[in-house]
Amino acid sequence: MISQNAIDTLRKTEIGARGLFIDGAHTDGMSGASLPVTSPIDGRPFASIADGNAADIDRAVKSARKAFENGSWSRSAPAFRKKVLTKLAELIEKHADELAVLGVRDNGTEIGMAYKAEPLSAAGTIRYYAEAIDKIYGEIAPTADNVLGLIHKEPLGVVGVIVPWNFPLMIGAWKIAPALAAGNCVVVKPPEIASLTLLRLAELASEAGLPAGVLNVVTGRGAVTGEALGLHMDVDAIAFTGSGPVGRRLLEYSARSNLKRVFLELGGKSPNIVFADAPSLKQAAVVSANGIFRNSGQVCVAGSRLLVQASVYDRFMDELVSATTRLKVGDPLDLSSDIGAVSSAEQLDKNLGFVARAQAEGARLVTGGERILAETDGSYMAPTIFENVTQDMQLAREEVFGPVLGVMRFETEEEAVRLANSTVYGLASAVWTANLSTAHRMVRAINAGVVHVNTYGGADITVPLGGVKQSGFGRDKSLHALEKYLELKTAWIAL
Ligand code: NAD
Repeated sequence: MISQNAIDTLRKTEIGARGLFIDGAHTDGMSGASLPVTSPIDGRPFASIADGNAADIDRAVKSARKAFENGSWSRSAPAFRKKVLTKLAELIEKHADELAVLGVRDNGTEIGMAYKAEPLSAAGTIRYYAEAIDKIYGEIAPTADNVLGLIHKEPLGVVGVIVPWNFPLMIGAWKIAPALAAGNCVVVKPPEIASLTLLRLAELASEAGLPAGVLNVVTGRGAVTGEALGLHMDVDAIAFTGSGPVGRRLLEYSARSNLKRVFLELGGKSPNIVFADAPSLKQAAVVSANGIFRNSGQVCVAGSRLLVQASVYDRFMDELVSATTRLKVGDPLDLSSDIGAVSSAEQLDKNLGFVARAQAEGARLVTGGERILAETDGSYMAPTIFENVTQDMQLAREEVFGPVLGVMRFETEEEAVRLANSTVYGLASAVWTANLSTAHRMVRAINAGVVHVNTYGGADITVPLGGVKQSGFGRDKSLHALEKYLELKTAWIAL
């Protein structure tokens, strides 16, 4: 684990102006324009990134295509790819302190969580897919004797990766690592408010021996660089994590350009369901509070709708409020903070807008609901709980992506299932019960990509993550994610 001394030294590091990373080298953006990088810790700019444009995306895609065609990566021996990616995982671990602090200065996640979820998780993901590279076999089809049917697995070509600001390195690695392992070349469009760690990743990849052009990073505004990547005629696939509206745009871009495949990991409004027979109400309350409030609620799988069985409602709410008020919100670079800063002043305003609307619609504010630590000039918000939330309220229907929890009560299992599934989303969920049959029935009944039982979060790289309904399609993580980045080719040979 990182030490407070290391954090205090690294937080003062000068970052300066960062350019793009194309064809294995740093380069300025074509326009010369830049965007300030403001830290949500204190509202102050501490670096700048290049404000890339469509011409920069075109340069990066051309570089990726050239690298793909020359075969230095795409047709290299799997053992070579494995060696390079394993080296990259090692370098990330070696620079874990630096990457963690850099990322927190960018997006405000509490360092304890960021350290594990960003560099360490990214290194683990890259190592996982590095180890998988030489275990992907083609197939021989069960044909008649006079033919041979071979099924080859080939990389797609150039893959565009677009990720959000909450965990750019972790989510980026979920896409970049399997794409590279499969032999593709990649162009990454980082989130404009948290680009620094992905730029550093590209440098480390180069140091690890990744050939020039295989991994390119173009920073800039989503509406400019993201759109250019989505519309590019020579990009074969886009792997996206972010909001629903941008996900829809990417599907449009694909339809308007070259029908590139699009994988979407979108938002959620995940139900967290506490039955009266939960093994421990106290533990369920503590884990549920963490499951919505860590990283200021900016977690795609956050359990933002809490459903509590009526017979234990009051007891559970007491435990929940007590667990919530014990969480310390503060400087994300202080190891004692449980919750850091909201990622930006804009996101904080958005969160407070949800609070105002929930109050106007008649939900009851139990705790929080306000900006705190304003004297720091940073963006901090008290963990917020509303009860008496009904299905028609905005808080029950729309993703806040902030530390705001809506609580409802239910009487029966059927009612819990109905409420849980009354959403356009289907990303994550949880069920708290000591009854094995209830647990399994709920796992079957809930429409979501993940159902936790007597826990929340923490699912590791071995299991897929992704949604149903408007939470998107395609899966990150696990060996299943590799399949997205491989194309099947049939060889039909007369013997
Ligand atoms: P966002 O959709 O605003 O931005 C995501 C990325 O898309 C950014 O890199 C942004 O620059 C880019 N972008 C913006 N406009 C674009 C355009 N017109 N064309 C192409 N790209 C564009 O999302 P956000 O605010 O960064 O992140 C929060 C959202 O991400 C939430 O909805 C959250 O639930 C979701 N999320 C989902 C998962 C998951 O695994 N399902 C994980 C984390 C976050």
